[in-house]
Amino acid sequence: MRYDVIIIGAGPAGSTVSTLLARAGLRALLLEKSRFPREKLCGEFITPECLNVFDRLDVSQRMFDAGAEIINQWTLFAPDGRGVRVPMEWIADGHNHAIGISRAQMDLILLDGARQTGVDVREGFRVSPRFHRENGMSFIEGKTNGKTVERFSAPVVVDASGRNGVFSNRTAQRTSFIGGSRLFGCKIHLRAVEGMSGIGELFFFRDGYGGMSGVENGRANLCFITTEATLREAKGDREKLLDLTMRSNPAARRRLRGVVIDGEWLGSGPITYGRQRSMPGVISIGDAGAFIDPFTGSGILLALSSGELAAEVISQSFAEGVSDVDVIAKSYDQLYRARFGWRFKACALLRAVAFKPAMRNALVTALCRYQSLAKLMALSTRQKIIPCSSFPPQRR
Ligand SMILES: Cc1cc2nc3c(=O)[nH]c(=O)nc-3n(C[C@H](O)[C@H](O)[C@H](O)COP(=O)(O)OP(=O)(O)OC[C@H]3O[C@@H](n4cnc5c(N)ncnc54)[C@H](O)[C@@H]3O)c2cc1C
Repeated sequence: MRYDVIIIGAGPAGSTVSTLLARAGLRALLLEKSRFPREKLCGEFITPECLNVFDRLDVSQRMFDAGAEIINQWTLFAPDGRGVRVPMEWIADGHNHAIGISRAQMDLILLDGARQTGVDVREGFRVSPRFHRENGMSFIEGKTNGKTVERFSAPVVVDASGRNGVFSNRTAQRTSFIGGSRLFGCKIHLRAVEGMSGIGELFFFRDGYGGMSGVENGRANLCFITTEATLREAKGDREKLLDLTMRSNPAARRRLRGVVIDGEWLGSGPITYGRQRSMPGVISIGDAGAFIDPFTGSGILLALSSGELAAEVISQSFAEGVSDVDVIAKSYDQLYRARFGWRFKACALLRAVAFKPAMRNALVTALCRYQSLAKLMALSTRQKIIPCSSFPPQRR
């Protein structure tokens, strides 16, 4: 079978771009190394803007049928337990609430949506980094269940294979550190968390932060980031790890009293951030294109939005008779920078403040006092709040 586009990775970015390409009448092949449903390390906090994309993909109702929890408000807690509330309507864009749903369910629903739209989906197929181009075609290969080697070709290849993108060059990325130690993420589902209905919480502690919010089936997801040094100190003892991290924040300690662990611990790292350089001949989207700080809760939004943008650019180019991937990649890159470049700058600024205790304390004090500043900060991670045309301000 001849394909127009091959997409690698069926996370939110890959399933979105595949669905929209198939809707535009293009022959799309989606290759995914895992078999769904599969758990994934993530805060599982889906911001209100994502629901607009789910509406356009016709999957919103399925998310609620699967038990997605509505989240109306987030509270950010400083290490001393002081909290700043962020109502979801501040970042609302049509929908004025966020949702909590496990990545096992959310990614499965998005992948099923792609399949139903006509995308050819191959699960259990790991793409190898070997890549070859000839006469306007790209050739990729991989193995199903680690066995038979198969090759596929198409004029356009989209890399949506996540943070460790199979075709991305990570030299442009930077590793996150706190106190000189690299950062790693951990996630676990919990039961019997009191008082979590309709809310999400983000707790900062000495060397990291962690978020907690409801997901389907009455569970809560706990996801935190901490340093390699702390992981070493815990020596594999998870209770000790929680004492050193989450439970060192008084507000989180209260919340975690009496909870029951439900499922497997997941871990990942070291965490890097920033844009990745795509290989020539490949369009990189979602985390494979750029990774944004998890505490902004906007990684999935960027994955979905970059999937929509890539589908728009690719289908428009094919409609105009252009299938040269280098031309398409250039247009995509320009539009990506214009639409999303600002978020990375805002997040870099917040990161610089969030992990320096003196600056963070001053910021929390200011945020507790001035709600409008908290709103401005929440908005800055998602959209350009100062339009170019009005900055610098005009003299009268
Ligand atoms: C600790 C942490 C917490 C986070 N919390 C949140 C949050 O609460 N809200 C939020 O919006 N974002 C959060 N994020 C970010 C979010 O998880 C990512 O931005 C999002 O998953 C990116 O989606 P994606 O489709 O680009 O990549 P992914 O979701 O990573 O999907 C990539 C897919 O590619 C597949 N793949 C990889 N290699 C191959 C290969 N060689 N062959 C075939 N398939 C392959 C993988 O199996 C995977 O299914 C968090 C991130 C971290 C690290």
